[in-house]
Amino acid sequence: MSDTIFGKIIRGEIPVDLVYEDDLTLAFKDINPQAPIHILVIPKKPISKLDEATIEDQALLGHLLLSVKKVAQQVGLSNGYRVVCNNGVDGGQTVDHLHFHILGDRLMSWPPG
Ligand code: 5GP
Repeated sequence: MSDTIFGKIIRGEIPVDLVYEDDLTLAFKDINPQAPIHILVIPKKPISKLDEATIEDQALLGHLLLSVKKVAQQVGLSNGYRVVCNNGVDGGQTVDHLHFHILGDRLMSWPPG
């Protein structure tokens, strides 16, 4: 997998507004927020997209989703929030490193664009 902007963030080469970190995960504020709270949760392991995850990543994927929940609680999204994982070109993915968006602090509409 080629390097991405998120790889640089993991290595500390690009500053971010860090919200949460553990051995497997980073969470930081999105640079172009689409809601009052917009946080990205990423694995430190370079997986390019959900489609590239394998059975070996099963525990990591569970950890990431529980990290999403932990971060949402940490920032006070007690009234709900949206979790988005854009996958590939038609999914609108622009950074080729698996990530979950947490969007909150406003009422979300459906369907997404
Ligand atoms: P995608 O479109 O791939 O689902 O989401 C990528 C997200 O990464 C976008 O929401 C974009 O604003 C965010 N992003 C891209 N570059 C940077 C950066 O350098 N710093 C931060 N904090 N977010 C970034």
